[in-house]
Formats: sequence, structure tokens, C-alpha cells
Amino acid sequence: MRVVLKPGRDFSVRAGHPWVFSGAIARVENADVPGRPAQVCAADGRVLGWGTWHPATSIAVRMMTRGVRPIDAALVRERIARALALRTLVGDTDAVRLVNGEGDGFPGLVVDRYAEFVVCQFLTAGADALRDDVVAALAASTPARGIFERSEGNVRTAEGLARRVGVLYGEEPPPEVVIVECGRRHVVDVRGGQKTGFFLDQRPNRDLVERLAAGRRVLNLFAYSGGFSIAAARGGAAHVASVDSSAAALALAEAAWRFNGLAEALGTFVRADVFDHLRDDRVFGGAAPPPDLVVLDPPPFARRRSDRERARAGYRDVNLRALRVAAPDALLLTFSCSQHVAVEEWEGVVAAAAMDAGRACQLLARLGPGIDHPQALAHAEGRYLKGLLLRVE
Ligand code: SAH
Repeated sequence: MRVVLKPGRDFSVRAGHPWVFSGAIARVENADVPGRPAQVCAADGRVLGWGTWHPATSIAVRMMTRGVRPIDAALVRERIARALALRTLVGDTDAVRLVNGEGDGFPGLVVDRYAEFVVCQFLTAGADALRDDVVAALAASTPARGIFERSEGNVRTAEGLARRVGVLYGEEPPPEVVIVECGRRHVVDVRGGQKTGFFLDQRPNRDLVERLAAGRRVLNLFAYSGGFSIAAARGGAAHVASVDSSAAALALAEAAWRFNGLAEALGTFVRADVFDHLRDDRVFGGAAPPPDLVVLDPPPFARRRSDRERARAGYRDVNLRALRVAAPDALLLTFSCSQHVAVEEWEGVVAAAAMDAGRACQLLARLGPGIDHPQALAHAEGRYLKGLLLRVE
């Protein structure tokens, strides 16, 4: 099938942007079923490349190749080989993102490795249609004991795809997979945890927390399975409090605490809503000194563009509260993983929160994901994870 763009609407594809929005399309010739390859042409008929097509989503084509190269099993093998080659540059860990969707030239495909197990998410109809080729390529090129599928979530629903969870190849992963990242042990629930089980994207920031934590009283907000908590404790923190609303998440965090042989008295695990927790001034039980290293890594407050206003309000509120409880000269690592809130916009919200809190902040570093989370340079929407390291007056 062929998709012909409107005049003047080929620029972003030529610039390497992986998405063609339905509004840019003049006509569709020989329309196929959702997820099938389509050749994309400029208005003058020049071939721009091939992508996977969907008639019902605002992203109508997700580009995979430029020029005349079509989408086939050989392309899938090449893309996966190129993605794996990049991961040889990631240091001391047995858990990495092997394929990062558009950033690896493979829209809709996420592949994570957790020790001996590989987890795949086919999030779009285009990626879904290539499942067998992907599994064959991964089975041939990784020493995985098992490949597990976790294809679920909003994007899939919007693509008209049902949830698919189960074994794709080899053995089923156990309920808890232990990974070792820079000497830290983390417990991953591959079958039922958030995303594919762990937030691999925060690895460089866990390393940073480990370096900064010595002697500090650490407050890890939205802790999930305690990634930052383990890093802080291993870095010599005086105390680490982990706050999350999910009992299952905290159970993983406590299991990880034990796997790392950390002293029980060093860690507190609090099941609470972060907003309430900070409002109630229950931080460190009220009587203890305030935290001097705060990690604030909330869930994406905006799941779609129309949530942006609400998301801004959420970020402002939670940053304000965190800044209010931080000790003088505390370090704050604050993050946003909302794709729909751009980096400048989010930084502005954090600055406004600092003003409201009456706490001047020094910007020490801008933070982002590790090199196993590449993004196409032209694809600003791919840069979802952003963070700031601040020192709070
Ligand atoms: N910082 C974590 C990832 C956070 S994911 C890491 O590095 O691994 C977001 C977490 O926030 C989830 O574990 C979810 O259970 C929790 N959560 C969502 N809303 C919450 C709320 N209002 N209060 C407390 N926890 C919340």
C-alpha cells in the first residue's frame, strides 16, 4: 500500500521524525489492514520510506526505513543486531533495555533484558505484526533462558489490540528475577510489575544517588521497587525512607533490601499517598531531622496531551511539598516521565514550585536516561524522562 503526503508535509519525515500524523496525508492507496507496511511518498511522488500504517490512530504511519528499503524479516534482524551492538557499551549490569522503540528504529517495540530473561512489549499494530520475526531474532542473538511478552497498556488499546501476556520462547521467568546493576541487587517482577518490571531508564541516576548519599537522610518518593533506595543505602546513607502507595511495590523494595544485606534499622518503608505523606508532615515520623537528599520520581501525571494542565498542577504541588520538607542545603533529584510535558515546560513548573516554597535552588545538573534508551534526534516526543539535580537553600 502507499500513503501520499500533502504538499509541504514531508519535511519532518525527511528530517528523521518517525511519525506521520493523519492530518499530513493527502490519500491512501490500496489500504491494507492495520499494522501493515506502507510506502510513504511526498506529494510529488518521491519515495520517502516505509512505515507501518494504522487507519484509526492520529499517528497514521510509524516510519521504519528511509528510501526504498521495505519492511521484512531481514530488516527486523538488522535492527535488532544494531540495537544489541549499542548495548555492548553499557557497563556493569545484567539488566538493560535492548530495544527502545522509535529510538532504535523500531516503533512500538520495547525489549528489556533482566539477567537471563528477556521481556518484550509490542505496543502498536505495526510492531505486533512483526512479533514472530522479532522473537526469532532475539532467540538467535541473545542467550536468553526465556522470552516473555508483556504487551499491554493504553497505547495498545488505542491501536485496537488486546492484552497479551505470556511466554514467547523458552522458560517462564520466576516471580522474582534478581538483577545486579553496578553491584546493586534489584528484585524485578517481570510477570506483573510496572512496565516490564523495572525502571531501567533511571540507571545513571541511581549511580548518581549512590555517589551523593553518604551520611545523608534520604527520602525516596514514589519509590516503586526501591531502585533509588538501594542505591542510596549502598552509597552510605544514614537512613532511607521509601514511600509508595503500592504494597506490592514496597514488598519488592523490602525483598531487595534483604538481598543486598542492608541493615533493617537503616530503612523505613512507608505505604502512603505521597501528597498526603508530605502534607501531614509525617516525614521521618515527624520527630526525626528532615531529609537532606530527596528523590522525587512520580508516575507520568499526563497520559495524554489533554492532561497537560492537570499534570503541571501535579508537578507543581508535589515539588512544592518536597521542597518544603527538605533540610537546608538538601539535594533534590526531581523527575518527570510524562512524554506530553516538554522539558522547558516542566523545568518552569519546578522553578515556580521553588518560588512558592520560598526556597532558592541551585541547578547542579540536568538528568536523563542512560545510553540504552536512545532517542531519534528529530523525535522530541521520545525524550520523556527528564530530571534536575538541585541544591536547596
Ligand atoms: N522511582 C521509581 C519509579 C516510580 S514509578 C523507580 O526508580 O523505580 C511510580 C510509582 O509511584 C509507582 O510505584 C506507583 O505505585 C507510585 N504511586 C503512584 N501514585 C502515587 C501516590 N499518589 N502516592 C504514592 N505513590 C504513588
